[in-house]
Amino acid sequence: LYGFLSLGHFPGFAAAGLLMAYTIILFGNIKHNARNFNDSTRRERALLASSETIQLLLNDFEEQGSDWLIELDRDGRILIPRARLAEAAQRPIETIVNKLFVDLLDHGTARDALSSHLENKRAFRHHIVSLTIDSKQLWWSISVRPASDGLIAFRGVVTDITAQRQAEEKVSYMAHYDGLTGLPNRFTFNSSLYRSLARDRGIAGMMYLDLDHFKTINDTLGHPVGDQLLKAVARRLESCLTPDELIARLGGDEFAVIVSAKRLEKLDELAERIVESLNRPFRLGDHDVVIGVSVGIACAPEHAETPDDLLRNGDLALYAAKSAGRNCAARFEPGMDLAAQERRVIEMDLRGSLTKNEMRLHYQPLINAGTGETNGYEALIRWEHPVRGIVMPQEFIGVAEDTGMIVQIGEWVIRQAVDDLASWPSHLTVSINLSPAQMRSPTLISTMVQSLARTGVDAQRVCLEITESVLMQDSEANIETLHKLRSLGLQIALDDFGTGYSSLNYLRSFPFNKIKIDRCFVSEIDTREDCRAIVRSVVNLAKSLGMATTAEGVERPEQADCLQLEGCGEVQGYLYSKAVPVGELSDLRAPRKAEIGLPLPFVREVGELALPSVSNDKRAKAA
Ligand code: C2E
Ligand code: CA
Ligand code: CA
Repeated sequence: LYGFLSLGHFPGFAAAGLLMAYTIILFGNIKHNARNFNDSTRRERALLASSETIQLLLNDFEEQGSDWLIELDRDGRILIPRARLAEAAQRPIETIVNKLFVDLLDHGTARDALSSHLENKRAFRHHIVSLTIDSKQLWWSISVRPASDGLIAFRGVVTDITAQRQAEEKVSYMAHYDGLTGLPNRFTFNSSLYRSLARDRGIAGMMYLDLDHFKTINDTLGHPVGDQLLKAVARRLESCLTPDELIARLGGDEFAVIVSAKRLEKLDELAERIVESLNRPFRLGDHDVVIGVSVGIACAPEHAETPDDLLRNGDLALYAAKSAGRNCAARFEPGMDLAAQERRVIEMDLRGSLTKNEMRLHYQPLINAGTGETNGYEALIRWEHPVRGIVMPQEFIGVAEDTGMIVQIGEWVIRQAVDDLASWPSHLTVSINLSPAQMRSPTLISTMVQSLARTGVDAQRVCLEITESVLMQDSEANIETLHKLRSLGLQIALDDFGTGYSSLNYLRSFPFNKIKIDRCFVSEIDTREDCRAIVRSVVNLAKSLGMATTAEGVERPEQADCLQLEGCGEVQGYLYSKAVPVGELSDLRAPRKAEIGLPLPFVREVGELALPSVSNDKRAKAA
């Protein structure tokens, strides 16, 4: 620069300027390059550090978590398999190197879809596949994205979701199946019925099943035995049916069956088979248990068009089967619908019957078979309906029991009967019928005590009539109640003896004062030797247990003669009198000495006078 300047004038100054500019540019460049070089080395160093961090993080992630990593080549082969993958696939690590990842998986659409994603180099997330190891099914969720890192064409994460899947399946199972028996539940039953009807153009059959006496067994032998019984019932039902039928447990001791269109003509046969099969004893631990089943049958489109109507009509048919004495099947009939409507009307009217003072008690005499004397009267309820006229108990007691109204009605009967008794001579008794539902009522005993206290009547003059069903349901609690009632001094009679279940056992379960022999034995006692033999053994049994006997439904003198010969102490029936209003009782006076020991023919004459009016009695017709 000094040289150029010393040259002086123009060329020298220009050359010096150019040299300066060049030097400035050169220095600038050098500085720029040096900065660039520094940046890139810093970046490279950072990259190196970060990939190490990533590796560390990934290793940590694999060790800590339930997930693991996969790296696949472009054909989907496993590159450098990690121990976790081998462990999860339950194979030695060397056997999965270079193996196609999809080969670990079960065949199926999920695996095909995964292959297609890999072929097309597509990323995917949470793709669920299954694999089977030692006949155990596992579920994996896989997320993969393409990569280009040497041989690595895909990187991904696999999560074992087997436990989650099993939990989901369990929840779904619980929503659709009954935990105890393993049968489909009500939800599955309803949806299957809808589907079955839709599939078979509205043709299907259904059966409602309700076990008889299940509650008794559950109460007496305990819930574990009850559960065992339900399971055994489920297995027996399955053995009666084919895979074409769907059997469900709707809850408690209720089951239901769907019969498909193609098996519809077998419906009645199936129902019969079920009734027969469930009537055979069940061996549960040390117990031989006998139950039965009531079956209601309804078919679409014959009885109903919609699933809801079909279910409703099946239920009505079940009700009919139960009313027909249980342990049988009943097919839906249009009349059942009317009967159900009728019951609903009765139910509504019954609600106001007590406040409107529509209930009456009629009394039927209980006659000393030896003397012909009236021992007392059985109170039999009548409903004076403003429109229907006199309604007999069999038309409304069932409804009152089903709705719980029997408790109030029964308390009214107790108060009224004890009030009436209070004005009768002291040698007469009154018998009051108690329904099972009343036995469970906490107010029964206090009603009884109050009635006796208010009237001052001797408790010995009141007899409570209960049926075996009281001992079959909640038996322990009921027997306790019976003991309390007896400790008040009341008499307890076992009503309708011989119509129920295993009567002799019930005789042992409580020391009854009296057994009432059911009309079904009395009606044929003079024509059938077996009826007579039964009556004879009941009378003898009662004598040996210190119990009295009353024969119900005595209509003919021949029956009365047989009963007297067999040693039955008391008789009751239309032969003597039907039940009449309290004002019509002719015998409400102390016995006259002369009448005691009157021969039966005298009584018969009185009874025969009473007979014609009985033929109009609805109750007699029904019987
Ligand atoms: P139950 O206790 O067995 O009463 C006997 C039934 O047989 C009475 O019918 C009676 O009228 C009828 N009967 C009496 N003698 C003869 C006869 O010679 N031949 C025929 N064919 N029948 C005869 P009822 O009054 O219709 O009562 C029917 C059932 O209603 C009673 O059967 C009893 O279980 C129930 N019941 C009646 N009153 C009450 C009550 O106040 N409370 C409760 N819980 N149930 C009652
Ligand atoms: Ca009775
Ligand atoms: Ca009876």
